[in-house]
This record gives sequence, C-alpha cells and structure tokens, in this order.
Amino acid sequence: MLVDSHCHIDFEEYADRIPQVLENMARNQVTHALCVCVNLADFPRVLALAESHSQLFASVGVHPDQGEDASPGVKDLIERARHPKIVALGETGLDYYRQSGDLEWQRTRFRTHIRAARECGKPLIIHTRDAGEDTLRIMREERASEFGGVMHCFTETLEIAQAAMELNFYISFSGIVTFKNAHAIKEVAKAVPLERMLVETDSPYLAPVPQRGKTNEPSWVRHVAEEIARLRGISLEAVAAATTDNFFRLFRPVL
Ligand SMILES: [Zn+2]
Ligand SMILES: [Zn+2]
Repeated sequence: MLVDSHCHIDFEEYADRIPQVLENMARNQVTHALCVCVNLADFPRVLALAESHSQLFASVGVHPDQGEDASPGVKDLIERARHPKIVALGETGLDYYRQSGDLEWQRTRFRTHIRAARECGKPLIIHTRDAGEDTLRIMREERASEFGGVMHCFTETLEIAQAAMELNFYISFSGIVTFKNAHAIKEVAKAVPLERMLVETDSPYLAPVPQRGKTNEPSWVRHVAEEIARLRGISLEAVAAATTDNFFRLFRPVL
C-alpha cells in the first residue's frame, strides 16, 4: 500500500470528482493522502475534506507564494492545528523562484510556522525553491529539528537533502523524479536512505510519466514509487512499505 504525502485535492479542479479520485486511490492501493493547505481562506475546505473521508488527512499553513497580506499569526495557526485531523503545519518555507524583491516577509512567515509547530508538537511541511541555504539557516535558528517534518517536492541537491536529514527531516519525491531530463533528482532519489523517504504527487501539478500534461491525482503516486524502485533496483513493494511506514511515523495521524 502507498500514501500520497502531499496533494491539493481541495482545489477547484476536483470539485465534482472527489468520489472518482478516492475510487482511483483505492484501485491503486493508495490508502491515504494528505491534503495540504496553502492559505487560511481555503482551510475550511481542506478540513471539511479530511473530516468527511477517513482516507484523507489535512494540514494548516500559508504557502510562500501567497502574497504578503496572507501572513498568519502563530495563534491563527495553532487554533486550527489543534483539530485531530490536522497532522502538520504547512506548507511553508521559502520560494525565491516565483517571488522576488525584498522577501523578508517570507522568512518571517516561515519562522511563524516553525514556532506554531513547536507549540502544537506537530511536524512541518517545507516548500523550498531556489532558497536552500536560507531555508536550512532558518530551520537551524528556529530549532526545527526538535519536531522535524518533510522537505516536500524535493528538487535541491544531495548536500541540501543530507543537511535536512541531519535536522530530522524526511525527503519527499514527486512526479519530477519520473521526468526524462531530471537526472540530478534521480541521483538524489537513489542516494536518500529509504527510511528517510516519502512519496507525493503535489496534485494537481506535476503529473508523472506516463500521465504528463493531465491533472495529477493521488493514485498516480504509484508512478513515483515505481520510478524510485526502478532507479534503486528494488521492488515497488519495498518502496511502498518504507514510505508508508515513514508517513505514519512522521505524521502520527489518528486513524
Ligand atoms: Zn510546494
Ligand atoms: Zn504543494
């Protein structure tokens, strides 16, 4: 069995096809998915999905691509994170690729999420793009290692993966690992120990080979796991078992 550790099936794309998405998961032995919040305005929708489906869990957070005005306070996050179906804080982090200019607000928002995670004892879902060094620096300064989390949709170097693992973080691979030209990330996926690895779709984005160009969905996390198994010369079952165990060890959801 497999778990999609990161998806956004609360987005409009899925408004009238959640039953189909859940059925496709079941058919591919994808037993659970974590629906990740990107903005407090969307939080009720994310939580409602998790509350009405036993296969789904949720998080609370504000994505670094959401403009400066969307920044939450520590209290806003903690209040929402107390719900038993909320298993993590995020996604949060730094994105220097999609946002430019003075990004001090992004770094402040990231610190706010780390402080909220500490207060509620739940792990972090970190998004980092073209900002690896600053991300690690803030993780160290805020002692994120005390409660850990995941570096989601990992696209950085092996050195950054290693530094994150030393800080008690898991590394999550998305459909990017199936892309033909993604040589560097394939190498990282071979090197990260299985016991530190998660798999995800980041649906609706990044549909894996052989579904590229379509709206991604959690059942296709299977293609991600298959590619990692192929790269490492091990069985799909071995990748599925390890990444599923890791998911439950990290997020400790109430089943
Ligand atoms: Zn992300
Ligand atoms: Zn995401």
